Amino acid sequence: MSIAMESQANPHVLLFPAPAQGHINPMLKLAELLSLAAVPVTFLTTEHSHRQLTLHSDVLLRFSRFPTFQFQTIADGLPDSHPRTFTQHLPEMLSSFKSIVKPLFRDMLASSHFTPNLTCLILDGFFSFLVDINDDFVKVPIFCFRSLSACSSWSVLSIPYLIQHGQLPIKGEEDMDRIIDKIPGMENLLRCRDLPGFCRAADPNNDPVLQFVVNQSIRSTKFDALILNSFEDLEGPILSKFRTLYSTIYPIGPLHALLKAKLANEETESSNSMREVDQSCLPWLDNQPPGSVIYVSFGSITVMGDHELMEFWHGLIDSGRNFLWVVRPDLVRGKNGDVEIPAELEEGTRQRGYMVGWAPQEKVLSHEAVGGFLTHSGWNSSLESIVAGKPMICWSNAFDQQVNSRFVSNVWKLGLDMKDLCDRETVAKMVNELMVYRKEEFMRSAAEMANLARRSVSPGGSSHLNLDRLIQDIRISRQ
Ligand code: UDP
Repeated sequence: MSIAMESQANPHVLLFPAPAQGHINPMLKLAELLSLAAVPVTFLTTEHSHRQLTLHSDVLLRFSRFPTFQFQTIADGLPDSHPRTFTQHLPEMLSSFKSIVKPLFRDMLASSHFTPNLTCLILDGFFSFLVDINDDFVKVPIFCFRSLSACSSWSVLSIPYLIQHGQLPIKGEEDMDRIIDKIPGMENLLRCRDLPGFCRAADPNNDPVLQFVVNQSIRSTKFDALILNSFEDLEGPILSKFRTLYSTIYPIGPLHALLKAKLANEETESSNSMREVDQSCLPWLDNQPPGSVIYVSFGSITVMGDHELMEFWHGLIDSGRNFLWVVRPDLVRGKNGDVEIPAELEEGTRQRGYMVGWAPQEKVLSHEAVGGFLTHSGWNSSLESIVAGKPMICWSNAFDQQVNSRFVSNVWKLGLDMKDLCDRETVAKMVNELMVYRKEEFMRSAAEMANLARRSVSPGGSSHLNLDRLIQDIRISRQ
């Protein structure tokens, strides 16, 4: 379906993100941007996500200023006690999405549950199995929103091609440094270890998660248009590749910076947190010298073993730098609760460290005391670091993160990639390389990219213009 080019008096767009912090956060930013432009929006989330979001953030109050905005919820078919973590329970979550969420969503659309009538759907790329929902009765444009980087999305799309050309499967640990030369636009850039985490499956043809991801990516090309949380100056060459698959793409990132630019004259500060935020780290940062603190956070779903936790901890203390570390209660695999400080680390942690269960990350990254970010390379975290002009050390773990970290280190030159290493010597060495020995070089490239990001979201910038175009196309799309 092409985007209809006739005027429509009452646009009404439905946004439906996957139920995870890293997906809900950018889609809420888009919802806020559309609402600021007076486009009526319904934001559909699972009941569980909605509960978490409204418990720990001010979204209800914030969005109440838009009379044509509404939240709606849908059941996810999982018991209340289910932990719902993508990293550990993806197969059962996928099966529930397909068997429960899809028919429920279909019923909602068929029964005119959403009023006024919808004129456009914006679905998370993760929900590409919903793209054919259009065929039966909802004759409106369906756009795909991808919360991943263009480079990782492109490499996921290339997986069938890699299998076909014998570049996958990866044949064990000794094969990890083999160069992948068959991804158009990324020739000779990625090693096997830089491919999306799912590619480590022993048998790619029969791995359910990998098959799901690849099928969703292929199906995602059936959407009427693609919205990406990225920007031309960062991912221009890969965005051009996407233009060969989609007649319309809207790179409108970094969304949090675009929203901030639009809200410049307003008091409102957006927080879409689904966990309780510990603000106490901000006064602690206020007391640290400029550029002296390495901020450490592995996002909302990454888990690690006890051994890895200890290696990071020793490495941070051995580095001699100050650190602010987000240790989520569920960061260590199989545990949920406060992490006890081992006796031998007490002194170093007290002297140099500050730990919280969940930080106000955007504020932390823009704090002048923070000089670098040790990150898992989730796409939101990467963009937030880019906008704040902070170089990164990447310890990527799963999904899209391995590709992002390769681009951070080898394409954008914004930091260092630990990749599969996790030992105290590497941690301490890389922290010092980033924060001391190569500080100027990294700060310079980070500042340049931050400028480009800011320019893209300013009036006349590429993302700013693309958002205007998206709003215009939503306004004229019709049933
Ligand atoms: N985040 C936060 N506080 C924290 C850690 C993370 O607010 O202590 C936010 C972060 O700002 C980002 C999101 O959680 O917007 C994590 O998304 P990302 O794509 O980086 O990683 P994911 O959690 O999806 O792996």
